[in-house]
Amino acid sequence: MFCRSFISLLCIAFLVTSSPGATFSTPNFAVRASSPEIAKTCAETAEKLRRDLAVDWFGKPMPNWSKPCRISVVVDSSLLPGGSTSFFFEDGEVFGWQMSVQGPLEQVLGSVLPHEITHMLFASHFRCPVPRWADEGAATSVEPPAEQTKYQEQLRKILKKREAMTFDKLFSYEEYPGDIILFMMQSHSVADYLIQSYGKRSFVGFVDTAMKTDNWPGALLEHYGIQSNAKLQADWEDWVEDACPSRDMPDSEAAPSVLSDRSVRPRNIKRVGLKLRRLLRKSD
Ligand SMILES: [Zn+2]
Repeated sequence: MFCRSFISLLCIAFLVTSSPGATFSTPNFAVRASSPEIAKTCAETAEKLRRDLAVDWFGKPMPNWSKPCRISVVVDSSLLPGGSTSFFFEDGEVFGWQMSVQGPLEQVLGSVLPHEITHMLFASHFRCPVPRWADEGAATSVEPPAEQTKYQEQLRKILKKREAMTFDKLFSYEEYPGDIILFMMQSHSVADYLIQSYGKRSFVGFVDTAMKTDNWPGALLEHYGIQSNAKLQADWEDWVEDACPSRDMPDSEAAPSVLSDRSVRPRNIKRVGLKLRRLLRKSD
């Protein structure tokens, strides 16, 4: 969930990273939890989410990882729902998955796992760090509608008191900025706006093009027919001011660009030295 990112930053000292109890494994997840039932439920849910979300984002299931992701689950209704996932990039590969999640079981299954697994799917697909706004925007967009409505409301409250980040700035962050609450909420909202325009696969294609070309305005024009970051910002601000009305998603043929096979090839982007060293990525 949206707040999870900053909640987990604020409360990181309280996030339990290991717990005694039972384990349950599926091909891609090895879950440790306080009971066999919870471990089994979380592992099977994670496996289903991995399959279903990959189809939603990329049009097909993702091959099994070489080693399963270890998940530490702490189910406790008194804890704020939250999670974090870490993994390594090296030579175009991603591995060393570790995830910690906590909170009431319903929210762990319905919000936290979809969010964290979306981070993992994006890492597996792009094989390099995804720009933070797009990574968090995508991850929050798969949370339940009620959670996303809360994010929209919170963003509108903030924007009554201060200005939004410019999209030039928002798109440029490779790590979480200091102003993380606005960053997270705006990232969610912009991603939601774009995904409601032409769907999840167009969003992936847009991010893919921007990462390859280091040119967000060019990618916007290609995938959404929007002339510039400033034009997107103006349209988006009108939409937010209008209380984020649902946008009818047109037929995929109406999109300015369709996702092509190039989007699933290994990256060749302007991240000097990235493929030459091991890089730890942590997503909240
Ligand atoms: Zn996240």
